[in-house]
Amino acid sequence: MRAYLAAVGGFVFLTVVLLPTLLVLPQGTTPPEPPTLASVPRLEVCVFRTATGQLVRVELEEYVLGVLGTEMPANFAMEALKAQAVAARTYACRRLRYFGGQGCERHPQADVCDDPNHCQGWLPTQALLDRWPSHEAARNLSRLAEAVAATRGLILTYRGLIIDPVYHSTCGGHTADSSSVWGRAEPYLVGVPCAWDRHSPHYRTERRFRYQELAALLGEPAVPVWASSDTTPALAADRSGRLMFLRWGDRTWSGTQLRQLLELPSTRLVWRAEEDGVVIITYGSGHGVGLCQYGADGLARAGYDFRQILQYYYQGVQVVPLFGE
Ligand SMILES: [Zn+2]
Ligand SMILES: [Zn+2]
Repeated sequence: MRAYLAAVGGFVFLTVVLLPTLLVLPQGTTPPEPPTLASVPRLEVCVFRTATGQLVRVELEEYVLGVLGTEMPANFAMEALKAQAVAARTYACRRLRYFGGQGCERHPQADVCDDPNHCQGWLPTQALLDRWPSHEAARNLSRLAEAVAATRGLILTYRGLIIDPVYHSTCGGHTADSSSVWGRAEPYLVGVPCAWDRHSPHYRTERRFRYQELAALLGEPAVPVWASSDTTPALAADRSGRLMFLRWGDRTWSGTQLRQLLELPSTRLVWRAEEDGVVIITYGSGHGVGLCQYGADGLARAGYDFRQILQYYYQGVQVVPLFGE
């Protein structure tokens, strides 16, 4: 149908517009400019700035650059930066009203806020430049700009719908199912093994808690029962090695509760009871769902490109241009 209309349109244009123009154009006059692809809209993201309470409107690609500079170290491998740029762009587009999104839940007048613990971190370009050491600033900015330009307009979809591309610092060996972290299953947010984030400074963290301290943090009045050897805690982990619950005596804590109460970097952990307390060894940092940033860097250094990286951490997704080729 569209092809037919185009053919008819072309014919009308030729006979009604072009022919008379050709006939009446005097010698030496240049014909008007051909139509450009200006039909692609200029997309703006309305960002709530947590520090000032202001709303700012930023062009989409400029917004992606400001997220990239905030959420990932600029010295990460180029293909990892590109993967992060696509994730950041997708995250914003999923919330844009233009695409039927709901905006930021906490600040409904904005599409997104700049709080990294709620939406995505974001800074204006000048603030990024000011934050970096002066001898690195120009190089950092040009690397980020290269990653944004190389992926311009690309987003992630699953069966034609824009995905929720959540990401985290370091998974610690295996990413998490969204269902076990948030109770919400997404087919593309399933845990996958990750052997590429060992170079992360957050890969392994060891913390020691005395029983008394542990009792206070967990809100338990009694210590002595716990400390006796016949009441060792029962731990259950899911298939990605993340703590589902801890049962001790007649009380139970979920992995997420324990992570919050003890301020642990992740729920991927091993627990060792000792005479006067416990040693908790955690692997990774963050919720563990979706893209593992240090893993992406490791994969990029091993030669994988941004599409392969994205399609590994978000299973079954497609990398597509926002407005067609
Ligand atoms: Zn938000
Ligand atoms: Zn990982």
